[in-house]
Amino acid sequence: MVKSRAAAVQELRERFAAGQTRPAEWRAAQLRGVLRMATEMEAEICDALHADLGKPKTEAHVHELSLIKSSCLFALKNLKKWMKPQKVPAKLMNFPSTARITPEPLGLVLVISAWNYPLLLSLDPVIGAIAAGNAVALKPSEGAPAMSSLLAELLPRFVDGTCIKVIEGGVKETTALLNHKWDKIFYTGNSRVGRVVMAAAAKHLTPVVLELGGKCPVVVDSNVDLHIAAKRIAAGKWGCNNGQACIAPDFIITTQAFAPKLLESLKKVLEKFYGKDPLLSADLSRVVNASHFGRLKGLMDEEMVSDKIVFGGHRDEQQLKIAPTIFLDVPLDSAIMKEEIFGPLLPIITVDKIHESFGLINSMAKPLAAYLFTRDSELQNQFEGAISAGGMLFNDTSIHLTNPYLPFGGVGESGTGSYHGKFSFDAFSHRKAVMNRGFAGEARARYPPYSAPRLKI
Ligand code: NAD
Repeated sequence: MVKSRAAAVQELRERFAAGQTRPAEWRAAQLRGVLRMATEMEAEICDALHADLGKPKTEAHVHELSLIKSSCLFALKNLKKWMKPQKVPAKLMNFPSTARITPEPLGLVLVISAWNYPLLLSLDPVIGAIAAGNAVALKPSEGAPAMSSLLAELLPRFVDGTCIKVIEGGVKETTALLNHKWDKIFYTGNSRVGRVVMAAAAKHLTPVVLELGGKCPVVVDSNVDLHIAAKRIAAGKWGCNNGQACIAPDFIITTQAFAPKLLESLKKVLEKFYGKDPLLSADLSRVVNASHFGRLKGLMDEEMVSDKIVFGGHRDEQQLKIAPTIFLDVPLDSAIMKEEIFGPLLPIITVDKIHESFGLINSMAKPLAAYLFTRDSELQNQFEGAISAGGMLFNDTSIHLTNPYLPFGGVGESGTGSYHGKFSFDAFSHRKAVMNRGFAGEARARYPPYSAPRLKI
């Protein structure tokens, strides 16, 4: 096994060195292969997502399959343009010369992905790596075993398996992979392991993209369409893998005066979405495994928060299901307000004035996404200026990730680097600075002896 892993990495290196991954035709053929896989294997992919997460079919289509298809189509449409060297101005002091920035593939890239969107988070970076002309090793998450083995089986049937390989495994295998020298490592997961990845990469001076998580705040002002706000918060939280999403709303901040109205509206929406007994709903994903279930149970049962539940709270350990659960005014030093929740629990924190939310958010680690619901454009401007976050969205949750013209990535504790659309191509390319001079334009002063500037040499 160890030998075959090393042999796989060696083959990738040789194929890249032979130039196999560079031509635009090769890149386009692989992108079409991924697109074909996502189209022809929809049923198998939906089954794997259901086996791993109980993911509803609609979510599998909308949040994973369709995003992969549109990433392929977008890359195919723009590939030639992205690959083209970009002319830049030349300075008079370099006369005569021309200058350009030529994107070149980095070489061998390792993509390590996470379990919560196991198709999307595996293939989306791979699409960028292929478009940029790299050889790729994909290490899917062992936390979504059905998708991991499906990708290992399917991908070689649809793409060039000598240059794009799936290498399965858990911590031991990933640790072994990290010992190899890569030209880029793209990691999605928690920030503890992000540090492990970065330390391993540092040994080889390998650049990294770290797509991490954090606590995404949702600030809700009173100047909103309350029903729409509640629907969009619920869709971004429970409608995205039952809260197991990196950009899911982690907690709400609103004013004391507005909290009861917001809570009532959220309750109404949740009952409409998932019925009187959400544990029976087929439209809610389950918790991924017993270990995460135990972690979430621990957050719910902590003494200082267990009596703050104002909606939900039901769970079924056998089926690993937890109903949408809302807490009101939990202490800021409770575990639920200190850790990323990554599940169906949603605390509401109240403040006197909505502007107090700024200080609260800024006292915490920089989030992957920050949301504000308000019609007040002045408040929006202030929020945008005051809050540092990977991304920001006004009057909705999560959907900024579907715009390929926006970079997707974190800042500070929520990650480094970004991808999606052209940003994916750039994440896996080196921008080579190229200057071309003729033989005219000699300046005598450039050459020694500097003390005799008029001497002809
Ligand atoms: P996970 O358990 O699937 O781990 C991620 C990857 O890290 C896996 O491939 C796993 O094999 C590998 N890994 C785990 N321990 C390792 C170790 N000690 N050494 C080397 N590799 C190791 O996923 P997770 O970490 O539970 O994912 C959830 C976290 O990821 C959350 O914090 C979430 O916010 C974040 N996330 C971020 C994004 C994003 O795009 N920014 C997307 C999804 C999830």
